[in-house]
Amino acid sequence: MSPISNAGNLVPLFEANTFDETQTDVSHLLQLSSQLQTSLDIESILTEFSEDIQSIVAHDHLGYEHEVQGITFTVGKNARHKLSYQLTVNDEALGALLISRRRKFKPDECRQLENLLCALLYPLRNALLYRSALTAAHKDPLTGIGNRAAFNEALDREIELAQRHQRSLGMIVIDIDHFKSINDTYGHSTGDCLLKAMANCADNTIRLSDQLFRYGGEEFVVLLPETDDKGVKRLADRIRRNVAAMDCACEGKHIKMTASFGVTTLRKNEDGKALFARTDQALYQAKEDGRNCTRVAE
Ligand code: GH3
Ligand code: MG
Ligand code: MG
Repeated sequence: MSPISNAGNLVPLFEANTFDETQTDVSHLLQLSSQLQTSLDIESILTEFSEDIQSIVAHDHLGYEHEVQGITFTVGKNARHKLSYQLTVNDEALGALLISRRRKFKPDECRQLENLLCALLYPLRNALLYRSALTAAHKDPLTGIGNRAAFNEALDREIELAQRHQRSLGMIVIDIDHFKSINDTYGHSTGDCLLKAMANCADNTIRLSDQLFRYGGEEFVVLLPETDDKGVKRLADRIRRNVAAMDCACEGKHIKMTASFGVTTLRKNEDGKALFARTDQALYQAKEDGRNCTRVAE
């Protein structure tokens, strides 16, 4: 039989029209299903699934893609003969799975694989739900950038990396000037529109390796791995100029805003709290010095 490309919907575990019990050891399937349920990590689930089914449907490669959640995963090397599935549970798309190898797949192996995939569906669905809940918990709903929880985690991670590899780590704290009076003058929803414009402007100015967060209210933080004092100051000033140059169209009005910036880089043996406190102090100095300016921490 020629290479097969299946693009079928897989239905829930043991539903009669998909599961063929003459083809598969049911106790193995149950065991596989409960084993996969023990993890909520998509990569671990797929790796374990791939390893477990090797003795039944040998393959050189397993690939998985979930476009909406932006997940791409592969184990092994893609080969010529492929079996592919759009995985769904009750019309809920769970992504696409591809298995390939150099030898052709036999019809019996395809049926076996389809049965085995039944054990993957619910563990995969749980892991996807968990992943999107985690993502939502780390995202600021107004601006779409990382929130304070995301910042705290990223800060710990970046400090660890910077200290381990003896690399520089820059931080910028941004606070919109006179934001209260903007709210008072134009209303809260115009204020929200400006917060989005601020996030967009900063996000479009930083490099791909930098990370922007909404710390709270009208305050934002940028983490800049491998950036020295000069580089941090230069980037902060670039964001500051871009913000001041913006003509924000919010609810039919064109509004200008400025922001103040505190910047610094990580000191030896410094923790996240101390780094943030110093950067925030520099921001305070920028406010003291008349706003719409950048100050470097002592
Ligand atoms: P300064 O130049 O000293 O920073 O003055 P400011 O007015 O920006 O600072 P202040 O801390 O007095 O006011 C911050 C304002 O930000 C008050 C609060 O209502 C507003 N704010 C906080 N979060 C939001 C939000 O999500 N949306 C809107 N529209 N306003 C917010
Ligand atoms: Mg503030
Ligand atoms: Mg402010």
